[in-house]
Amino acid sequence: MTGEAAKYLYDMSEGSADMRTILGGKGANLAEMKRLGIPVPDGFTVSTAACVDTMRAGGEWPDGLWEDVQTSLERLEERTGRTLGGQNPLLLSVRSGAVFSMPGMMDTILNLGISDDTVEALAAQAENPRFAWDSYRRFLQMYGDVVEGVPPHLYEDELTSLKARRGVEQDTELSTEDLQELVATFKDVSRRELGRELPTDPHEQLRRAIDAVFRSWDTPRARVYRKANDIPDDLGTAVNVMQMVFGNRGETSATGVCFTRNPSTGEHELYGEFLVNAQGEDVVAGIRTPRPLTEMEQVLPQAYEQLVQTMRDLEAHYKDMQDIEFTVEEGTLYLLQTRNGKRTAAAALKVARDMVEEGVLTREEALQRVEPGQLDQLLHPAIDAEHGRTPVTKGLPASPGAAVGEVVFDADIAARRGEAGEAVVLVRYETTPDDIHGVIQAQGVLTAHGGMTSHAAVVARGMGKPCVAGANAIRINTSERTLSIGDRVFHEGDVITLDGSTGHVYGEALELVPPQINEDFAAILGWADEVRRLGVRANADTGEDAAKARELGAAGIGLCRTEHMFMAADRLPAVREMILADDEDARAQALEKILPMQQEDFEAIFTAMKGLPVTVRLLDPPLHEFLPSLVDQSLLVQRLELTGGDAGELDRAKVLLGQVKRLHELNPMLGTRGCRLAMLYPEIPAMQARAIVRAALAVREREGETAGVEIMIPLVAYAAELQSQRRVVEEAVAEELESAGAELEVSVGTMIELPRACVVADQIAEHADFFSFGTNDLTQTGIGISRDDAEGGFLSAYVAEEVIPSNPFESIDRDGVGGLVQIGAEKGRAAKPGLKLGVCGEHGGDPASIALFEELGLDYVSCSPFRVPIARFAAARAVLGGQKRADG
Ligand code: ADP
Ligand code: MG
Ligand code: MG
Repeated sequence: MTGEAAKYLYDMSEGSADMRTILGGKGANLAEMKRLGIPVPDGFTVSTAACVDTMRAGGEWPDGLWEDVQTSLERLEERTGRTLGGQNPLLLSVRSGAVFSMPGMMDTILNLGISDDTVEALAAQAENPRFAWDSYRRFLQMYGDVVEGVPPHLYEDELTSLKARRGVEQDTELSTEDLQELVATFKDVSRRELGRELPTDPHEQLRRAIDAVFRSWDTPRARVYRKANDIPDDLGTAVNVMQMVFGNRGETSATGVCFTRNPSTGEHELYGEFLVNAQGEDVVAGIRTPRPLTEMEQVLPQAYEQLVQTMRDLEAHYKDMQDIEFTVEEGTLYLLQTRNGKRTAAAALKVARDMVEEGVLTREEALQRVEPGQLDQLLHPAIDAEHGRTPVTKGLPASPGAAVGEVVFDADIAARRGEAGEAVVLVRYETTPDDIHGVIQAQGVLTAHGGMTSHAAVVARGMGKPCVAGANAIRINTSERTLSIGDRVFHEGDVITLDGSTGHVYGEALELVPPQINEDFAAILGWADEVRRLGVRANADTGEDAAKARELGAAGIGLCRTEHMFMAADRLPAVREMILADDEDARAQALEKILPMQQEDFEAIFTAMKGLPVTVRLLDPPLHEFLPSLVDQSLLVQRLELTGGDAGELDRAKVLLGQVKRLHELNPMLGTRGCRLAMLYPEIPAMQARAIVRAALAVREREGETAGVEIMIPLVAYAAELQSQRRVVEEAVAEELESAGAELEVSVGTMIELPRACVVADQIAEHADFFSFGTNDLTQTGIGISRDDAEGGFLSAYVAEEVIPSNPFESIDRDGVGGLVQIGAEKGRAAKPGLKLGVCGEHGGDPASIALFEELGLDYVSCSPFRVPIARFAAARAVLGGQKRADG
């Protein structure tokens, strides 16, 4: 915000869509709709600045805020010709609305202005006493819950018991007298709970309601949601105060929610739900399971037609799929909210692609409609279509994908077990926004109640969680912790499978199959490839992985590790022989045995990648991984001594123990790793170089083409190390080529994964054809933490307490480790202009890290094969500017 004092109050007619920072998404879009001439109830907005200033002052309202609210209220009273608390009563909704939409996470109060003094006037004006008393009881419940903190189930219980006594199922079947009785009961409930009367003056209620909405910014569920969605904690919420319109005025009134396209699949079709004679919360809170929108055409034809036209207009105006709330009051349509709809990754891709085809968006705009992180959803396994099993029940397909896990009935348990890495499915009668922490940690969500537009469904889709909602054949007994479907009973811990794409639920774990890249994804990736500057390679160690990576669009291999080529059970004896060899000859003999095995591996990889570059990293072993542990070997020697077994065996065990002791390192991760081992035993890199060259030549011979060979020396700290290793490699390569009478271009570079290497990158560059930043080890060595120890320990606490913004192994530590990369890149290129620079840590597949690598001007990233599509897309977004979109 600029230096001028923030304005706290805005009439709806003053706002527009580009004011969401100050008005919140909801307020800005309401104002925009009003500007477009769409019917929206009149009102005003208390700005986010007022909320932020109140939070900063520890909950104290800034001077003048209440006076401003009253002035705005007076203007609204003048415009509507009604008075808050008067005999021509103005009724208000008081609605939260943040900059980034957080569906259902914060609070809203409806029907404010009804009191003992105004309820009769309202009944008389509407000529509908039932409606007036229905609104009154709703108000008492919402106000008591949201503003005064009365547990909401206390009201629900009274409602349920009244319905039971009257022998009715639906709220709408209660009579005016019943509702009057309920109003009295609700007042009793509040009085009993609070030990005092609720305030009855609507002005006082308004002040407290606004304050409650401010406070709802900081509820635990809102915090959890923000954390999960990377929304800053200091933005605050705006508060929208609007005239009420009533969907509960009888059979020609209704309320509903709709999307301009299907948010699960992206299909261009009508998607929505409505309820006759109801208020908005009834639909989104999943209290009653609503009817599909298409049925509204019969019930309320005029309003329906107008709604469908408005949906088209809004989508065209915002150039994006809209999520819309509406109410019909006695046949007249009102819009109550529009926002860019939350959608699954599959839907995001389809909508983006379709909108380009429809001529609404350019390709570049379309790329910006998809969040790179979200694409992850598409790369998860799905249920095998050929499973042939019969579902135990079916609900609504509220959010697609497969979830296999143990049944749990409580969000806290789901959160705890999910965090511990267990696969659980959260099963609830309905989920409320308070279950958010459990939803995040569960594999999927199954509810007995609620529709496709319920909060549970919206939140699940936004997170890419599979969700089956409204499976009304299931019975949940929370105290016994059982789920019954017909005569089958599932206990907590039994495994079920959800298919969120069909709504089917299976009473067993189903087989999952690897993900497929569909046409939409492929088309959008094609556009991304035109835009991006960074190359994308894959980390792959086998021919199979290399082939997969190529299929997913990798332009080569950025990291081919060779350790596993030594680890395979049939190779380990030869490798031990090599390590334990007393002299060079013995070692050379052992290496001779390993060479053909390595060559075979390289041939498979080079074949899969022919025509593309492959960076092979020479052996980088913590030595101990090849040897038995010190403890095990000592125990073996002891046991053989005690049992007095075969003397030869005991001798061999003792020799090995001696070697293990000699090679034992206190801190192997900082010990004889990387090129340090190769410096001691140059025969090893020489053998590997030979195997690489022979493989490349063999593949060229067989396939007519081979891969571009790049040999990478690991864990270099000193320029002299690289200089020496380069010589070893080049000599071996030259010898091989000479004896084969062939030519082959081989480049030699190094992995930059130590702070020292970054700082002296200019010296190292003298001997390197390329650098590849190993950002995993660079994070360990740069921050001085061991990943295995940190992630299970203090690191999660650091993230939870916001000491650091995120896990630096998942998303690069921009300032620190990113700073080291920057130094390395700049110094390397200063010494050798045009030096090729890549990244081969897991960060190479993380969109936020890719944005940094783009800024630093690196040449390529390399990541695991399955992240290649995400990296391709993220690299394009990095070029276009990866701003998070405010969708409020
Ligand atoms: P949320 O962000 O949880 O969706 P909202 O502020 O949108 O909360 O409001 C909750 C429900 O109340 C919605 O269904 C909305 O349409 C309804 N509602 C809000 N304001 C009004 C109003 N002025 N008249 C009628 N219904 C309203
Ligand atoms: Mg809403
Ligand atoms: Mg390393």
